[in-house]
Amino acid sequence: MNVKTIGIIGGGQLGRMLAMAAARLNFRTIILEPQADCPAAHVANAQIAAAYDDAAALAELAKRCDVVTYEFENVPVTAAEDLALQVTVYPPPKALEMAQDRLTEKSFINGCGIPTARFHAVDSQADLEKALADFGDQGVLKTRRLGYDGKGQRVYRSTADSAEGGYAALGSVPLILESFVSFEREISIIAARGSDGKVACYDPAENVHRNGILHTSTLPASISEETAAAAREAAEKILTALGYVGVIGIEFFVLADGSLIANEMAPRVHNSGHWTEAACVISQFEQHIRAVAGLPLGNPDRHSDCVMTNLIGDDILALPEWLRLDDTLVHLYGKTEARPGRKMGHVTQLLR
Ligand code: AMP
Repeated sequence: MNVKTIGIIGGGQLGRMLAMAAARLNFRTIILEPQADCPAAHVANAQIAAAYDDAAALAELAKRCDVVTYEFENVPVTAAEDLALQVTVYPPPKALEMAQDRLTEKSFINGCGIPTARFHAVDSQADLEKALADFGDQGVLKTRRLGYDGKGQRVYRSTADSAEGGYAALGSVPLILESFVSFEREISIIAARGSDGKVACYDPAENVHRNGILHTSTLPASISEETAAAAREAAEKILTALGYVGVIGIEFFVLADGSLIANEMAPRVHNSGHWTEAACVISQFEQHIRAVAGLPLGNPDRHSDCVMTNLIGDDILALPEWLRLDDTLVHLYGKTEARPGRKMGHVTQLLR
């Protein structure tokens, strides 16, 4: 594959950082994104302003690009499959299909021999009551599709949290009830698979969420080498099962005995991998571009301990203070309006 131009579906900050990494390797990028003046379009060579499933726009993207990738997991699967008939699409559309629906995702992950929380499909109030009874009145009710950053979720901790109306409260859409996992910490692993089948894993990050949104990722995670090895092994199994090419992010709960429960996977570069641009020679963004362009993967080793902090909404007001710190990489996303909950940028402090 002789790649000169890479198409990216989605124009947010992940697309922006992918386009920046691509430019350094002399690739041109074209963004497919309906919203004008999006973060990725500021740094890409061109934007096609159309919906992600606009057949004519996808055909144009296929014609103008040598390979197409995506920066978010809710690209319509049929659009990605149609596109794959016209141009190479990495990661493969099957990865989207497995990641878009929490029920399919958990079944797929279990099929790879990796444990998840127990779960039941919930399509009615009666289903919810039956599922809660099975889990001793504890569980996390989630929408099967389109949930992110803790949106579309309801937690049940005891019989006092009445199931009443719970199904309707999440919009009467297909839901999943997961058993409640009493975890000690949350980690994620960012891994890549090249078109030659080689796999490279970054060190697992320890993640702290605030209001359902990632707040910090810290390296190293407070886990044993066995737990880190289990995360790498799980990533390799998932990547191989999908015939994957590109970077994936997989989130896990760590139990008191160090064992792992997989929570979810994102078939794209991931917020909990932003630290790699400061603490590794090859960032997750360059790694993804290398993979989809058929180049050799880079070395994922980490040269420093670090902590990445997301700048969300008004956090951006502290920018002058972050800029005064030594060994701190500031990355802003080009968004003008700091709405609550909106990811405006991130900072990675090297700890040495
Ligand atoms: P998710 O949208 O699946 O990433 O969930 C958002 C956050 O909710 C996770 O990072 C956990 O902190 C918490 N959470 C999700 N699922 C469970 C579960 N089954 N048991 C306990 N906590 C959970």
